Amino acid sequence: MPVPRRHTRSTRTAPSPDPELFPTEAAPERENAPESASKAACDASASKQPGTPDAAPEPADDLEPLFARLARSEFRSRFRLRAAERAYVAAKGLAAIRGHAADFVHTRLAPAFPPNDGRQTPMRGHPVFVAQHATGCCCRGCLGKWHGIPAGRPLTAEEEAYVVRVLMAWIVRQMERG
Ligand SMILES: [Zn+2]
Repeated sequence: MPVPRRHTRSTRTAPSPDPELFPTEAAPERENAPESASKAACDASASKQPGTPDAAPEPADDLEPLFARLARSEFRSRFRLRAAERAYVAAKGLAAIRGHAADFVHTRLAPAFPPNDGRQTPMRGHPVFVAQHATGCCCRGCLGKWHGIPAGRPLTAEEEAYVVRVLMAWIVRQMERG
């Protein structure tokens, strides 16, 4: 009799192009646009949200209020992992992606005055970059407005860990969306 096979990772190998079905309208990413575009992109939606300190990073459920706020932002909620980025996450694995996230956060966000702050995060090219824009973790200005983490001083280790957790939670949600 045939051996029953378990397909625990059913859809992972075939990322669907679902993101294309969503009305993403004019893509927010205009990587070739002059500096003002990406700066404006960062400032545009962030100003709507006064930023509530999301302290005590614990279980993933405590991020629900944050994700609810992000969902109400037209700008933030437009970001999605596209097929190539989903495939990249699937190929590398979440642990590796988390390592990339920790590295990006530490080098590009954690310094008191990150180089090119406000434009240091590309709109695409790595799933973590997309996650950063989607969650308001793209620059110190957005981090202040969305997460209540003030600019002008280095991030603490706890804050770095919190940001990484937010980014990974967003990425996992995107991957589960199928
Ligand atoms: Zn920003």
